[in-house]
Amino acid sequence: MSNKRRFYITTAIPYVNGDPHLGHALEFVQADVLARHRRLRGDEVRFLSGTDDNALKNVDAAVAAGRPVGEFVAEKAQRFVDLTKPLQLSNDDFIRTSTDPRHRPGVERLWQACAEAGDLYQRDYEGLYCSGCEAFVLPGDLADGRCPEHGEPPELIVERNWFFRLSRHQGVLLDLIESGRLRIEPEHRRNEVLAFIRGGLTDFSVSRAQERARGWGIPVPDDPEQVIYVWFDALANYITALRSGSDGDDYRRWWRESDERLHVIGKGITRFHTVYWPAILISAGQSPPTTIFVHDYLTVGGQKLSKSLGTAIDPLQIIERYGADGLRWWFVRDVPRNGDADFREELLATRANELADGLGNLINRTIALVSRNHPEGVCQGVDWPTESETLRARCSELPAAIDKACAAFDVRAAATALWEVVAEANRFVSATQPWELARAGRSGNHEASEILHAVLTVLLGACHVITRELPPFLPLAAERIREALDNLDTQRGRTLFPKFEEVP
Ligand SMILES: [Zn+2]
Repeated sequence: MSNKRRFYITTAIPYVNGDPHLGHALEFVQADVLARHRRLRGDEVRFLSGTDDNALKNVDAAVAAGRPVGEFVAEKAQRFVDLTKPLQLSNDDFIRTSTDPRHRPGVERLWQACAEAGDLYQRDYEGLYCSGCEAFVLPGDLADGRCPEHGEPPELIVERNWFFRLSRHQGVLLDLIESGRLRIEPEHRRNEVLAFIRGGLTDFSVSRAQERARGWGIPVPDDPEQVIYVWFDALANYITALRSGSDGDDYRRWWRESDERLHVIGKGITRFHTVYWPAILISAGQSPPTTIFVHDYLTVGGQKLSKSLGTAIDPLQIIERYGADGLRWWFVRDVPRNGDADFREELLATRANELADGLGNLINRTIALVSRNHPEGVCQGVDWPTESETLRARCSELPAAIDKACAAFDVRAAATALWEVVAEANRFVSATQPWELARAGRSGNHEASEILHAVLTVLLGACHVITRELPPFLPLAAERIREALDNLDTQRGRTLFPKFEEVP
């Protein structure tokens, strides 16, 4: 019997009203680590990312820039596409909601299904709208009259819209989350969502006047005066990319019949993903997601990432300076599962140098020792030196430790478990002094040669374990290390990771 599981994972699709910043890169890398980890364990994985092209704030940004919307959106969306390779992402697919031919038929079909279920109706509406959130907000959501997420006062909008009967789904949603059939992590997010649902759900608007949308977006079927609301449109990407519009094979395979449907999202859009999106799917007679992992935000010098504050750091610039290894390693080593993480360049430089000093050095030393002392390779069946006990235990426990951490979406704990093996292997080298053993062996000390043999066997074994577990975190570096180890290539061993100047 195969215990292979089928796993569908998505990032949120960012608005393209600006360039990608470090926060987007973080979410992409977190999702990538989870996807690669599952693949490493033999699971079937499909990993989707994309861009939310149809958002009204993209239209506002294009107008502000004096550019045609389509052209502006295409240019900005391309910046996100261009980030995937330098970040070493393993996404199988990337959907752009304005141009991808899979998207519109899927959105229209989802709309029709909700309409047929009796969950869509028209009504006049007057409400406060935050264009940052692309959502109507309730007075109770505001802090001092401003949106707590965007710091802007909402505007009063009066129009006739289509509404989704969310109120009708309150009991079903509560049951879905309380039963754990929809898992929301971390737990405090789950509790927030449950409290929000228990507080009573109100129907929400799912269309906008064509005029306010300046003709951008997907028209409401049979009501061309209205366009489908940004969030209804955007959330649908998770299934339209699987050709839900034509009920394709991908949709059956990766949505209806997958073991896990996981959305990785930022905390600002929790409600849309944990309440609106499952309700829409249930209304349409489709399966809701199984898991939603909510991450917190990056800050820079304690401030939000924002263009106007000058804190919107370009991930490509960081990669140019420190390589994708440096950036990915900082993300996985320093960003906690709960709570915001503050980015400072010196922290990243320290982590990048940790790779050179800790891992690069370990591999380099091991290759040098093994190639010089055992050119025919290291054989098995020797007595383990007592100093190796901790290292051997850490090595055999490592895969399970990483599995446990990744199952809890704690990427930092997973990377830390890996790093403990690297640190222990370096301690083992210091404790056993293999150079001294080699020298003694060359002057005829047979026992020293035997011990050296055992030390190098343990050491090389540890390096192989590290290399096997490294790809989710540093995929290309893992390949470089594997090649250097397989060929006992001392030249390659020396140049695995660069060192960086201390940042003042
Ligand atoms: Zn807002």
